[in-house]
Amino acid sequence: DAAALVERRDRAFAEVQEHYYAAPPRIERGWREHLVGTDGRVYLDMVNNVTPLGHGHPKLAANVAKQLRTLNTNSRFNYGAVVEFSERLAALAPEPLDTVFLVNSGSEATDLAIRVAMAATGRRDMVSLLEAYHGWTYASDAVSTSTADNPNALATRPDWVHALDAPNPFRGRHRGAEAARYAPEAAERIRALAADGRAPAGFIAETFYGNAGGIPLPDGYLAEVYAAVREVGGLAIADEVQAGYGRLGRWFWGFQQQGVVPDVIAVAKAAGNGYPLGAVITTREIAARYRTQGYFFSSTGGSPASSVAGMTVLDAFRDERLQENAADTGAYLKGRLEALAERHPLIGAVHGLGLYLGVEFVRDRATLEPATEETAAICDRLLTLGVIMQPTGDFQNVLKVKPPLVVSRESADFFVDMLDRVLAEGW
Ligand code: PMP
Repeated sequence: DAAALVERRDRAFAEVQEHYYAAPPRIERGWREHLVGTDGRVYLDMVNNVTPLGHGHPKLAANVAKQLRTLNTNSRFNYGAVVEFSERLAALAPEPLDTVFLVNSGSEATDLAIRVAMAATGRRDMVSLLEAYHGWTYASDAVSTSTADNPNALATRPDWVHALDAPNPFRGRHRGAEAARYAPEAAERIRALAADGRAPAGFIAETFYGNAGGIPLPDGYLAEVYAAVREVGGLAIADEVQAGYGRLGRWFWGFQQQGVVPDVIAVAKAAGNGYPLGAVITTREIAARYRTQGYFFSSTGGSPASSVAGMTVLDAFRDERLQENAADTGAYLKGRLEALAERHPLIGAVHGLGLYLGVEFVRDRATLEPATEETAAICDRLLTLGVIMQPTGDFQNVLKVKPPLVVSRESADFFVDMLDRVLAEGW
């Protein structure tokens, strides 16, 4: 019946909405990091950064259900949960960021962050990075440059978007210690734009190169680029949709790992554990300038049910020590993957921090030729062994290892053992 459902999906959905797999299982339910198919099989979900609490979290289900029975309507209601969640989220951000806008998704959050920067500065140019993904709405799509996500991304970019080199120390223009050159080059480009009368409203980037394969930015990169954008009067926007919310382990926010504080933060995904919830967090002063755009209202952004989901997620982070698990199990998993790399030459590198890891496959460790077809075949083979995994990066040659933050050591072991088996036996 999985195949029949694929056929029905293909008829009902727009064609561009691709499946994960050619023949995906039909998933019926889940618990923690596990998913159960109608074929009766249990799959290990190693690629889900929308559900830090895992699947079928009982408290989340109970709290949201209770809220739905009580009241769930637009966020303009003066309702306690909405205010309380906003306060708790604002309190998580470093000073002077203390003001939130609640929305429904990551695309809305990054889009609004860009519009906030444009309103606050009265400018329209934006700087982003190559190989980036920020969302599908108009402004978030405009600053998204990843050709893996959209082959037309560069051809269709509007003239107000200026994309800087991807600061990838593994396979970018500057490698290894040379990667320190990315930041001064980026700063130079920002100053040149200003000199040319195109001073940007802001600079938007993930604080950890998620969509390029889970690659940490070079040390000091954001400090230097943020300083340059501020020097010309623009704002620093941190897209924390993937890197934030404890995924990097030691740091709740990705920008902490770079030792910076942005002017505007965009969050989503993990914030609602799959229940639609996103937010922009900024300063009172910057938020107030949004008035120059008119008015902000999102019917369901931060609804009472979304806000209850948001608070339940924050409670679980505390009670279930999710960030600690991201640090501990993440380090354990990375160590095991690095050991695997010693035996399997296809593994060119193991990137990442916490529970945001990338296993990059190359045909040749000297030329770094991407093993794109091999990566797709390995993912298909892993599925037959009960592991859900997907490729990422511009060459689709990196396994994106992003399990729910509740993932156990046993599950981490199972994933590594299955990957070991696939690499040893062939795919
Ligand atoms: N920013 C980043 C870094 C993302 O990875 C994504 C989604 N993959 C988004 C924004 C957009 O989020 P959403 O899909 O919730 O609109």
